[in-house]
Amino acid sequence: MKELASYVVGKWVKGSGKGAELVNPATEEVLATTSTEGLDFGAALDFARTKGGPALRAMTFAQRGEMLRAMSRAIHAKRDELLTIAQQNGGNTRGDAKFDVDGASGTLAAYADLAAELGETHVLVDGDAIQIGRGARLFGQHVYTPREGVAVHVNAFNFPAWGLAEKAATALLGGMPVVTKPATSTALVAHRMMEIFIEDKLLPEGALSFVCGSAGNLLDLLGGQDVIAFTGSSITAAKLREGRSVLREGVHINVEADSLNAAILGADVEDGSDVMNLFINDVAREMTQKTGQKCTAIRRVYVPKDKTEAVLERLRERLAAIKVGDPLREEVTMGPVSTAQQIKDVREGVKKLESCAKIVFGSTTDAAPIGVPQGKGFFTTPVLLHGASPAPNDAAHTHEVFGPVATVMPYDDVKGVASLVAAGGGGLVTSVYADDKDFIRSAVLALAPFHGRLTIGSSKVAGQSLPPGMALPQLLHGGPGRAGGGEELGGRRGMALYMQRTALQGDRALIEAIAAKK
Ligand code: NAP
Repeated sequence: MKELASYVVGKWVKGSGKGAELVNPATEEVLATTSTEGLDFGAALDFARTKGGPALRAMTFAQRGEMLRAMSRAIHAKRDELLTIAQQNGGNTRGDAKFDVDGASGTLAAYADLAAELGETHVLVDGDAIQIGRGARLFGQHVYTPREGVAVHVNAFNFPAWGLAEKAATALLGGMPVVTKPATSTALVAHRMMEIFIEDKLLPEGALSFVCGSAGNLLDLLGGQDVIAFTGSSITAAKLREGRSVLREGVHINVEADSLNAAILGADVEDGSDVMNLFINDVAREMTQKTGQKCTAIRRVYVPKDKTEAVLERLRERLAAIKVGDPLREEVTMGPVSTAQQIKDVREGVKKLESCAKIVFGSTTDAAPIGVPQGKGFFTTPVLLHGASPAPNDAAHTHEVFGPVATVMPYDDVKGVASLVAAGGGGLVTSVYADDKDFIRSAVLALAPFHGRLTIGSSKVAGQSLPPGMALPQLLHGGPGRAGGGEELGGRRGMALYMQRTALQGDRALIEAIAAKK
């Protein structure tokens, strides 16, 4: 049995005790165990702060970018191996695994490109210089410099590769050392990535540490220059926000949590049009990619009442073509959910949704998976529900089912649909499909305060539109309210968590020289 280790204080360290089991969710075979019992997290944090931090801060943005590029290339060079691990431990189809692993290398590469633009400098300039005196000499300028602590990254089970890379890319480019912790259940791919980074000696000592298993007291040991970036459930997020270091030491915490992402079909969209096809494709893909275990997956689908039957019909057709089973088999297009807990939550969650909607396709208990031993694995089919009379406080607007499940609901007008979407309490992304400019404008203005990202699928971009569920390194990922209130990525915006913004006042020439210093 493979026993995983953590990489702390510059070496691989195994915890004691029995350890948690990592399984193949298709067969329930145990693949590895891991434990962090007995690890000295205080020493791990000190090592990162005293070795990794100074080494990173001595590098320019351009140099840190080269490091990120090397990390991206190293992942790409071992792509096949990583994809197979993701398939085995995450229940991913090959396509799902690519979304995670290529997302990881792509995000590191995008941040390497940004670093090249920032060049041979150490200070990030924020906005233009502002004249604050009567004369032309006295100026103010906001600048960012790296925080002198450690960035602790706690990730969710669904994107072990991308989660590690997208957070590490922004923190390392910002000049902060990272202690990264994947969710234990699907940690194998992140563990292998870490081995690759260490084998290839891609980072300065202490720049990247890896905790494989429970976080123990790690977060309680943080101080005022440290940062937490968390992705996971709102229940865990609430616990972390109440942690000693957040409450007493002012540790910055960024939270990416649940989200009831929506898709809205405009009344002007005709059946058979490019926009309708885009809408159907997006909904079907977002429901089933990664077995619906994406924080950005579409959970709520709003359509004008007179189009409901046509939309349900087309979605049913698409979902009927999904082949559920062991994701290592080529014909399978949707694997299991990742853990025993997940399948239990999906089944209970669909029951909750049934209080306000009827199942019109699928079942969480009769998946009949292809190529799987009888009775094994954490499988469900996609489940589509229809809620004929949506209300803001019903389960479709308050409960996230983290699986291949969505609810189609009718709406009357833009005001009505915007208030239903807002009842979800704040989300990561919502997509609007229409060509009617007035409808789009009203919808965007009403939806924007409740979202970190909106996508507009109109006929002019239907052929090149990117899936709403794809978080891009250039654009913000995060959302207000139930989505956690966090902001990640968004190019240089993502680095703000890892850098202190300071207003400098003084002689303009001096300030400009500081900002430009190599
Ligand atoms: P989770 O149970 O909250 O776990 C998330 C992470 O927190 C794991 O690494 C977990 O470690 C760790 N953790 C749990 N309790 C902790 C504690 N007391 N102290 C420190 N760390 C702790 O969430 P999940 O089940 O993995 O993820 C699913 C949820 O994440 C969904 O609700 C989904 O919406 C959300 N999500 C959001 C985004 C986004 O970007 N907004 C992305 C993906 C997922 P262990 O695994 O070791 O317990």
